[in-house]
Amino acid sequence: MKQQAVRPEFVKVIPERLEDGVLYICEQYRTVAHNCCCGCGQEVITPLGPADWSLRREGDNVTLHPSIGNWGFPCRSHYFIRRNQVVWLKSMTRSEVERVRRRDRRDKAAYIKEVNRMKEEAPPGSKARGEMERKPSAFMRLLRAFFLGQ
Ligand SMILES: [Zn+2]
Repeated sequence: MKQQAVRPEFVKVIPERLEDGVLYICEQYRTVAHNCCCGCGQEVITPLGPADWSLRREGDNVTLHPSIGNWGFPCRSHYFIRRNQVVWLKSMTRSEVERVRRRDRRDKAAYIKEVNRMKEEAPPGSKARGEMERKPSAFMRLLRAFFLGQ
């Protein structure tokens, strides 16, 4: 049966058996899982992260973004979970699915590139030193001038 709403449940680990209509949220492992809202029984795992899904909490209501497109399943269902409500969308055509997949790959590639760039610029733990070398304070400049004649 098609669900019109989900009930969020915050869990330490995602249970092996999911109950229909429950949105299991595991913050520790940044994962959300639920049975497909069309009632087909397929498990939908949505990892949370900057290049994946985001979860917004408003009291007892949760919103998952972006939409959930189960085009890998026979049902090909497509919906939003907004403030615990299931907002049904048209299932996508094959070409629409391809377009979204390409966009997802591009987003993810761009995100990974950005993270790598940040890592190169500031290896963990050395950020402060790096910044100081790039932008020496007036005092440091004076010291340097005094000792090194620079
Ligand atoms: Zn389904």
